[in-house]
Amino acid sequence: MSRIRPLNLPLSIYFPNKRLVSLAVELKNVPGALMEDLAVIHRFGINIVGLLSNTATANSPTTSVVIHLDVSGVEEEKLQEMLEEIRRQEKTLSAHILDAGIHSFTADQYHNRILSLNARVVLMSEASLKGLLHSLYTTFGDAAAAAFLYHMGMGGGHAIARYEKQLFKDPRVCIRAIEHNAVAFGYAHRLTIREVGATMFEVIFEGLFECEYLAGKKGPTSNWIRGMAAGFIEELFGGKWSATEVKCVNAGDGVCMFRVVRQ
Ligand SMILES: [Zn+2]
Repeated sequence: MSRIRPLNLPLSIYFPNKRLVSLAVELKNVPGALMEDLAVIHRFGINIVGLLSNTATANSPTTSVVIHLDVSGVEEEKLQEMLEEIRRQEKTLSAHILDAGIHSFTADQYHNRILSLNARVVLMSEASLKGLLHSLYTTFGDAAAAAFLYHMGMGGGHAIARYEKQLFKDPRVCIRAIEHNAVAFGYAHRLTIREVGATMFEVIFEGLFECEYLAGKKGPTSNWIRGMAAGFIEELFGGKWSATEVKCVNAGDGVCMFRVVRQ
């Protein structure tokens, strides 16, 4: 089992009894640019509670960073002084303080579209995803909800594989990339995909969100991600593939495992 190291993504932060603001800076994409601003924050003795850095690839001339600050007890004048000092840094193009005006709370109000690998990403909270899954099962019944989720997943799997193929070309590199991305995007704690001959893949998830959210139902319970696994392999290798969940945390197993088999 993987040790769980959660990332509390600092898109918005609630920190009781603290005054929080965010600093948004636009930087030249050159080495040391962020270091200059961090050194200023350090000199003013202000504590950083989270930092969001944009991806800075070699061909983008600028990049942006949002730095969430605990400014409890810091006078307005001192904060302004720090801001002016940051604006004077050679590699800093602009700097703004963002104040949500809500006590103990700050959010990234600078960026207004989230991307990963240059494609738009929408984050859904556990509450909304659980609500979505449970309402499908209670409204349509197990069999209809399972079919709906499987085919929805299948379409998603095809689309993800098409996108990855543009980046990585080789289907086996796409498989290695999805193992990493499934973890980076929070779908599971670990994903391992094994090729078993020419007609079968074993797809093993530790901590798969779908089955964790359906805890209490008798397993196997994955339909959405099961469909996604089949669609992903179909798109990479052609032909018709189907996926069966042969191990599931909701059937008492330690992992969720699918066999994806060529039809
Ligand atoms: Zn499962």
